[in-house]
Amino acid sequence: VTELDLVLRAPRMVAAPGLTAGCVGVLDGRIVAVESYRTDLTGRRTVELGADVVLLPGLVDTHVHINEPGRTDWEGFASATRAAAAGGITTLLDMPLNSVPPTVDVPALTVKRAAAEPQVRVDVGFWGGAVPGNQSELRPLDDAGVFGFKCFLLPSGVPEFPHLPPMDLEKYLRILRPLGVPLVVHAEDETAIERAPRAVGRGYASFLSSRPPDAEIVAVARVIEAARTTGARVHIAHLSSADALPIIAAARREGVPITVETCPHYLVFAAEDIGAGATHFKCCPPIREAENRERLWLGLAAGTIDCVVSDHSPCPVDRKRLDVGDFESAWGGIAGLQTSLSAVWTEARRRGFTITDVVRWMAEHPASFAGLTGKGRIAAGYDADFAVFAPEETWRVEPSALAHRHPVSPYAGRRLDGVVRTTWLRGREIDPNAPHGRLLGRGDRA
Ligand SMILES: [Zn+2]
Repeated sequence: VTELDLVLRAPRMVAAPGLTAGCVGVLDGRIVAVESYRTDLTGRRTVELGADVVLLPGLVDTHVHINEPGRTDWEGFASATRAAAAGGITTLLDMPLNSVPPTVDVPALTVKRAAAEPQVRVDVGFWGGAVPGNQSELRPLDDAGVFGFKCFLLPSGVPEFPHLPPMDLEKYLRILRPLGVPLVVHAEDETAIERAPRAVGRGYASFLSSRPPDAEIVAVARVIEAARTTGARVHIAHLSSADALPIIAAARREGVPITVETCPHYLVFAAEDIGAGATHFKCCPPIREAENRERLWLGLAAGTIDCVVSDHSPCPVDRKRLDVGDFESAWGGIAGLQTSLSAVWTEARRRGFTITDVVRWMAEHPASFAGLTGKGRIAAGYDADFAVFAPEETWRVEPSALAHRHPVSPYAGRRLDGVVRTTWLRGREIDPNAPHGRLLGRGDRA
């Protein structure tokens, strides 16, 4: 009998089918046994967890913008993965844009991997980009191990990552169909936004009306149609408008291969509460009204929304234009890696959801949609990635104490429920000062 490296004994843990007491055995970085709490499982090291914490699978965040190389003054692999670990996230997938070069061909992926490799505190994989003219790069990027592709249907916010003309969507999906990977789509319609009034000044209402729900509905409908026609997998990034939920639910019932994510900020904040000039709340699509927010929660409850991911998209403080509070010129993006779990848990429990629900949205479903086999669950055969979470403990968000690069957060001053005590990666407690993460490729474990 081989001796285990590690045994974690947890009076409370989230392992299928839900919250239970149990004992987890780890060997060579993988979970090899999940047994009852009273088991006599022993290893070289045993960690007895208290009844005040819940052992969770390490969270999986499939929507993160790290910006390195090229905009490393905005964010980088060291600071972002430190923030992830502090927030209970042990695996993340980096988006192809905001870095320079953007990840739209294999040389760019190679450059990004080289920048990441010596720095990552958690496991990191990559999305490729689908941009005009790079159809012939999709298959090579897939062979090189990206987990799928990301595209925009309107200007992305950075000039080096142009958007796909909506009429080209099917052409790209036909290439991706045989690869079996999803196309993650930023689904807002350019024409609907051009028709909407421009954002002017410091008022949030003006910014909100510049990105109407209509723009999301039109774009989501187009993505559904393209997936139905081609049979290729699509994934709606950061759904903000709950008005799109009925057509998504109908498409799912029909068997269209679509998955959907939303983000913590859409589930926590409400447009009515955002003050004049509070550009740290700016993101696209925008945070909408409280009534819309409650319907997003219903979409999660119904299973129409699969995942909750951060869309961590930080920038230097001055890019937020907080000095003038101008919504039009401020960078659209929220840095949420470290606050995601606590923010979602705080609001979820208030609405009667359980920690098991949160784990499904933030670990299991993101891992399975992205093809991250071996991540997102506490079960035999999975990586020994854990977050030790104290759900009853609270903390107050102080932006300068967060680990991402610049101290900007819409959660500033907010009291959140749930503290991440420790995170574990492949059986080893994460040390924020020591990069033991790995770069992941799709199919690595297959
Ligand atoms: Zn994004």
